[in-house]
Amino acid sequence: MTHAVLPTYNRAPLRFVRGEGTWLTDETGERFLDFGAGIAVNVLGHAHPVLVETLQKQAASLWHTSNLYEVPGQERLARRLAEASFADPAFFCKSGAEAVEAGIKMARKYQSHCGRPERWRIITFEGAFHGRTLATVAAAGGAKLVDGFGPMPGGFDHVSFDDPEAVVAAISDETAAVLLEPIQGEGGIRPFSREVLRAIRALCDQNGILLILDEVQTGIGRTGTLFAHEQAGIQPDIMAVAKGIGGGFPLGVCLATRNAARGMTAGTHGSTFGGNPLAAAVGNAVLDQVLAKGFLEDVQRKAGALRQGLGALPDAHPEIVEGVRGEGLLIGIKCRVPVAPLVGNCLEERLLVVPAGDNTIRLLPPLNVAGDEIRAACDALGRAFRAFARKQAGA
Ligand code: PLP
Repeated sequence: MTHAVLPTYNRAPLRFVRGEGTWLTDETGERFLDFGAGIAVNVLGHAHPVLVETLQKQAASLWHTSNLYEVPGQERLARRLAEASFADPAFFCKSGAEAVEAGIKMARKYQSHCGRPERWRIITFEGAFHGRTLATVAAAGGAKLVDGFGPMPGGFDHVSFDDPEAVVAAISDETAAVLLEPIQGEGGIRPFSREVLRAIRALCDQNGILLILDEVQTGIGRTGTLFAHEQAGIQPDIMAVAKGIGGGFPLGVCLATRNAARGMTAGTHGSTFGGNPLAAAVGNAVLDQVLAKGFLEDVQRKAGALRQGLGALPDAHPEIVEGVRGEGLLIGIKCRVPVAPLVGNCLEERLLVVPAGDNTIRLLPPLNVAGDEIRAACDALGRAFRAFARKQAGA
């Protein structure tokens, strides 16, 4: 273990040297089935030939120019995202936190631009995760995120999860926006119900409040539609996207309606690296694949197979597993026990999964995962849970 890196991560003692599709190989030559995909990032798996070729080609011609000049790949990506979603303009950055932060700034600027500068507060939800910048940890508000980092930036009103009455109670003359993840990712794959999403959309409309969706984890096909909110039949005013859109290259984007973005004029926001030629080229190549005919239907089919493969787990281990939840290839196995030892058992089975809050194990394989890889993962999970149950019974 090196001491040169700030020890803010609890890393597993594994060093990967190579990736191919859904597989990672460590320095000893051991192969692992990757059902974490870099926490919902490698949507097309590792070393996808089209992404590799795109990056190499772009790298040979132009890496970076800054946003002082036009970046044609960025404009193309923005146009395509607008055509495929509710959005008009796009602001490019490098991470989820920055995309959310751009959304927070945009919502405040909108209200101020409309002559309502007193509207600066944002309603957020218990269990949320929006990133690690000061504003985004303040937005989420969880003790683990904010302890010791105070005083926090103000202006966030935290309410209970999936509860429209709590939103009604929190709305005031100072409310600018509501910010939420349609399915809380780090919080434990906790979906807002579709009715509640619709109710919150209606509340926003009735009160001149903007709806900001954080689809950093749920976006780019992860839930079986390009964006998760489509399934509730609603549209946000502002949306943060990152992770999958770069397929592993750091890229984030804040999308908005032209109305919500009306205050964001030249000089109000920026990023040196955001959407540079390398990132834009890869983002466009990711979209080529995800928007290809039949791709999202295929994600839905694979999601069905994964759900079916996991179906027996709650009945086989009722004392360990409470249920399976989520949408598409964003699946949570909600457990009754802390999940760290179970994640360790999966590692012993050479299966990579990701722990989340609320005693939940996250499964988020590449969206192009193969059917036999889904079966192999379900078999490995079965063995991992059985080993855990045996250990518990013997204890
Ligand atoms: N929002 C959500 C919903 C996330 O899941 C994450 C990261 O896990 C973020 C924001 C922050 O993204 P990043 O780590 O790229 O800043």
